[in-house]
Amino acid sequence: MGGYPSYSVNVSTVAQVQLAINFARNTGVRLLVHNTGHDYLGKSTGANALSIWTRHLNSIEFIANYAGASAHIGSAFKMGAGTQTWELLQAAHEEDVSVLTGECPTVGVAGGYIAGGGMRPLSSKYGLAVDHVLSIDVVTPDGKFFTVDEKNNTDLFWALRGGGGGAFGVVTSVTVSTLPKLKMAGLTLSITIGPNGDVSDDIFWQAIDGQMSWALTPWIVPDMSLDEFKAMTADLRVQWEKLKFNVPLNFFETDNFYEAWTTHFPDDTVGVPNLRTASRLIDDQNWVNPSLLNDTIAFVQRVINNGSSLIGYNIRAATVADAPASATVPIWRDATMFAIVGTMWDAVPEIGQIITNTVV
Ligand SMILES: Cc1cc2nc3c(=O)[nH]c(=O)nc-3n(C[C@H](O)[C@H](O)[C@H](O)COP(=O)(O)OP(=O)(O)OC[C@H]3O[C@@H](n4cnc5c(N)ncnc54)[C@H](O)[C@@H]3O)c2cc1C
Repeated sequence: MGGYPSYSVNVSTVAQVQLAINFARNTGVRLLVHNTGHDYLGKSTGANALSIWTRHLNSIEFIANYAGASAHIGSAFKMGAGTQTWELLQAAHEEDVSVLTGECPTVGVAGGYIAGGGMRPLSSKYGLAVDHVLSIDVVTPDGKFFTVDEKNNTDLFWALRGGGGGAFGVVTSVTVSTLPKLKMAGLTLSITIGPNGDVSDDIFWQAIDGQMSWALTPWIVPDMSLDEFKAMTADLRVQWEKLKFNVPLNFFETDNFYEAWTTHFPDDTVGVPNLRTASRLIDDQNWVNPSLLNDTIAFVQRVINNGSSLIGYNIRAATVADAPASATVPIWRDATMFAIVGTMWDAVPEIGQIITNTVV
């Protein structure tokens, strides 16, 4: 099913989406939706297809006083399907509010992100992006246009929030509730391990035992002051001192999410031909049960010692009171860690090198 589409429609109106869908249905040509192309499995591309490209459905409207099917009181954003994270975060910053997004600036918020549940820096306290969706505009495979919400077409409203991209129709816009402006606190650290590094191998592995703390870019907590953050991490820092795990901790505090996001989140590097990633959601129990914890740390150690990198994201998305049920898989709320293992090989590799580097 791989390869590239034969035709692409650069849509900027709902009517154009309807025309493209009707054309595909009447001619039998394969149809797909392409927004930013961030899908790890390439589901936004496909051989010989007609591709609906949504990037230019990217208007963002701030609604100061939302009035609609949801009981939400307060402000909201209505954004076109092509809106990217950086655009929504910038708009939220200008209105002095926060919104729940991922961290990659160019992921499509109203496309595959919300279709997959949507998680990240604010999730541990404010849940998943789907918990904040108020309504969705969508064109279904029969070419009809619907606004779906808590009162209208509720089954589609449920499915489009977490049920997967490109499965139930072409989303043309999404309305999400805002969160208040949030203070943020955290720290970043970066360490080199080994005889000439900041810490020895031994101390490093003792220090991370049970703490995901070898490189923090960043460790960030929403709605918390720096004093509160320091109090929360005091015991851990005492343990580190005892171990002589003395690495510079760069504490920070901001009075809004946007500044923390633009200053402390690095760009991701994916989409290159000599990098292969795989991911797992690691359950809460792996950090609580001592034997599972040992296995988890041993696994992390094996990955690193085999020359791969492991990127860990704290998840455990909060349950949001009164959020309507969604199709999102429940594990996002029970997993402490979303782990991505990445392995690389030379630009022009020997096949043996790919096999050796990939087996962790
Ligand atoms: C570098 C990077 C960082 C990421 N960070 C995060 C993160 O912090 N949090 C998080 O939750 N996820 C994150 N993701 C995952 C990301 O949310 C998903 O890959 C998502 O599917 C991307 O959606 P897209 O619309 O941008 O991409 P696309 O590849 O264009 O689309 C993805 C899927 O959604 C479908 N789709 C897109 N638009 C529509 C539409 N309007 N109507 C119907 N179907 C549509 C496509 O057909 C495809 O199946 C990240 C991914 C990458 C590559």
